[in-house]
Amino acid sequence: MNLVSRLLITGAIAVLSACSDPKAEPAAAAAPAKPAPPAHYAMEDFAHVRKLDAHVHVNVMSPAFLEQAREDGFELMSINVDYPDFPKLADQRAAALAQLKAEPARLHWATTFSMQGFGKPGWADKINAALAADAAQGAKAVKIWKNVGMLEKYRGKLIMLDDPAISPVADQVQKLGLTLIGHLGEPHNCWLPLEQMTTDNDREYFANHPQYHMYLHPELPGYEDQIKARDNFVAAHPQLRFVGAHLGSLEYDVDRIAAFLDRFPNANVDMAARMSQVQYQSVRDYEKVRHFFVEYQDRLLYGTDLTLNPDELATDANGAEFKRSAHDFWTRDWRYLATDESQRVEIIKADVRGLALPREVIDKVYYANARRAFALD
Ligand SMILES: [Zn+2]
Repeated sequence: MNLVSRLLITGAIAVLSACSDPKAEPAAAAAPAKPAPPAHYAMEDFAHVRKLDAHVHVNVMSPAFLEQAREDGFELMSINVDYPDFPKLADQRAAALAQLKAEPARLHWATTFSMQGFGKPGWADKINAALAADAAQGAKAVKIWKNVGMLEKYRGKLIMLDDPAISPVADQVQKLGLTLIGHLGEPHNCWLPLEQMTTDNDREYFANHPQYHMYLHPELPGYEDQIKARDNFVAAHPQLRFVGAHLGSLEYDVDRIAAFLDRFPNANVDMAARMSQVQYQSVRDYEKVRHFFVEYQDRLLYGTDLTLNPDELATDANGAEFKRSAHDFWTRDWRYLATDESQRVEIIKADVRGLALPREVIDKVYYANARRAFALD
């Protein structure tokens, strides 16, 4: 029997049996097999896949950020930071509370605290009372920033994260059921001269913020000192949910991120403002970086560091320009992580091929991991 007639007969039998038994499964042989969905998402899937940007700063009352998040299918973790370039902490807090009230299912809030008064009696008690109040108002996380380790001093010495006087605050974060987001240290580039840095965004940031450019401050703690203090702290609080912001300041080497995640099962990392560092590596060893994402698919949180401050709205009153740039940022990252399309990334001067991560990996990295890491469910 030739192939065509055999197929025709098989088809006929399948049709017959389907007719004779109404409960029968639709005969697979009769209809052409439905193609399996592609292993990875495409650009047109971007808006409708559930996503959470685990690291943004909505420091305004304006609805612009939330409007774009709604349009692009994002929830947001908006993080307050004790950063001199940002509005005062009280204003950041007021903005977060207003945004939270406007759309509590989409906007999540990470509060923070000031290091002012550290070392004085009652410092931790005061912070802990404020954190309890913030948790009661809906905060899900607490941010601790690189001013610990790089700026804040006590009795003339820099305060490092593993200072035991910080421990009671970490205990309180844990007790309140919150997550600690830690941005400690800086990218590896920070200890290099500008011309040796791997990405233009680092070059630009450190050119504009020489006070944080540690290459210029060899008397201050080195890169490994910062990492060690952070690791000591995480080790001392094994039950605390910890999110290492900016790939845990280990962005330059996926092997080091992997070792950190292996060592601390309660830790996750967000990718905020470090995608170009990952791309720098995948241009050089695509399979290694892709394998890293697949291997650590339960521990990585998508995040951007997109920031909207009041001064930006002075020249962009309804936030249209911000919305365009946020959409552009988010879609470029989607192209890289979710699809196999190539794109030009100017800050590393390279054409970068997308990782085309499997759909289930994208669903975790973009959503499920953040929901779990911040105990949002
Ligand atoms: Zn940030």
